[in-house]
Amino acid sequence: MEKSIARDEREWRERLTPQQFHVLRERGTEPPFSGRYVDEKGDGTYCCAACGAELFRSATKYDSGTGWPSFWEPASEDAVTTETDLSYGMIRTEVACGRCSSHLGHVFPDGPRPTGERYCINSLSLDFEGA
Ligand code: FE
Repeated sequence: MEKSIARDEREWRERLTPQQFHVLRERGTEPPFSGRYVDEKGDGTYCCAACGAELFRSATKYDSGTGWPSFWEPASEDAVTTETDLSYGMIRTEVACGRCSSHLGHVFPDGPRPTGERYCINSLSLDFEGA
């Protein structure tokens, strides 16, 4: 697998649905409880909807009650990158794909044990592959 992917935005627009493009490439957020993976409980891997990289595993998914798929840990150390996001008058930490830099969601320090982290991820940014 390539270590990183750089595509221009025109290419992304062709590869993604308009909804996916908005979330993944324009840092959008899907409405809560609208996503297809909010209540997904199957065993498997959640991959990047843009580039296919493995991002999260079902074993770390939990019901946060927020309306977005929530995980307490990424699939590996370099699966995602994080960056401070000061938009909308809030101080948040943005989560992006470690391979293609597409926007995934945000991480908050109110998750469950053992990490105490809540990776709050848009369903539109994910492709679930059942085990
Ligand atoms: Fe990606």
